[in-house]
Parts: sequence; C-alpha cells; structure tokens
Amino acid sequence: MSMPRLLLEAVLKHPLTEPVTRAVDGELAALAGRLEVAARKQLGRSLSIRHVDVGSCNGCELEIHALSNAFYDLERFGLRFVASPRHADVLLVTGVVTHNLREALERTFVATPAPKWVVAVGGCALDGGVFKGSYACVGGVEAVVGVDVHIPGCPPNPAALLRGLLALLEGPAGKRGA
Ligand code: SF4
Repeated sequence: MSMPRLLLEAVLKHPLTEPVTRAVDGELAALAGRLEVAARKQLGRSLSIRHVDVGSCNGCELEIHALSNAFYDLERFGLRFVASPRHADVLLVTGVVTHNLREALERTFVATPAPKWVVAVGGCALDGGVFKGSYACVGGVEAVVGVDVHIPGCPPNPAALLRGLLALLEGPAGKRGA
C-alpha cells in the first residue's frame, strides 16, 4: 500500500480501541468507593499496597497493573501502589513461591512495618497452581509467610482484586498485629 493511501486511511478510519463500557466502570467505581471508605475507617487514610512477584507468569500482574491504567484509574479512590515495603499496609503477592525468590519474600515481609496484611493473588499464590510440584518451587505463599486473604482466579480480574481487598478491610481479618 502506498504511503498517501495509508495516511488517508489512518485519517478516515476510526481508531482500533474498545468503546468504554460504563456498566463495568460503574461496578468497579462502586467497589473502589467502598474500599476507600473502609480504608479511611480502618487507617484514617488511603490504602498503600506493595506488589511482590515471587514467581508469577505475569498474568496476575497484567490485571493488577490495569487497576492503575487510564481506563480504571483507581488511584482516584486513594488506592496507592508504593515503591517500598516500608511504606505499605498490604503486601499483594503473586505467583508460586520459587526457591530463588523465597528469601526476597521473607525480607520484604520483615521490611513491612507492623501491623500489616498479606494478600495472596491467584491460584499459584494459593498452592502453586499450575506450577505445583515443580522442583523449582516452594509452594503457595502460606508456605513462607502468613496469608490474611486469598483472591482466587487465574488471573483474578480487577473487580475480583477489589473484592478481595474489600474482604480484607471489611472482614474478620482486621488489622494485623504481626
Ligand atoms: S494464577 Fe494464573 S495468571 Fe496468576 S501467576 Fe499463576 S498461572 Fe499466571
């Protein structure tokens, strides 16, 4: 195709993006709003989350990153991902714990100030999932550090992630003294 024709098509055709689905946006906004209220009640401020990948295939990461993208934009509800465990209330752990990353998880847990929560995300973080039994893996997150809430799925979508965090703040797990 010639360059002028290519440019003409680029100008005349609609962009290849999905239309915004307000129904999904509304449900997520309601969940995120409840999360913001629960965090303020429990902590008196926003919830700070440190994500820890201990052996994920990155499928769970794509869904977690979606929470901060321009479509979901959940930072508007005070949900914050922080760069250091020293600033975190919650460790959001993805993947099966590999032998190589076991120490990293232990050290991240120790570096997080108490009280703190640990949330295991996805089937791998529960019991190893599709990697269960591999020579390279220790097992689920519970095999290394205590888990307060597990969010099932492979991977869990943004709504499931928010429901899990809500269960943490509104549920019996409460604020840990660990
Ligand atoms: S739970 Fe599924 S998406 Fe998440 S790390 Fe495991 S295999 Fe990947």
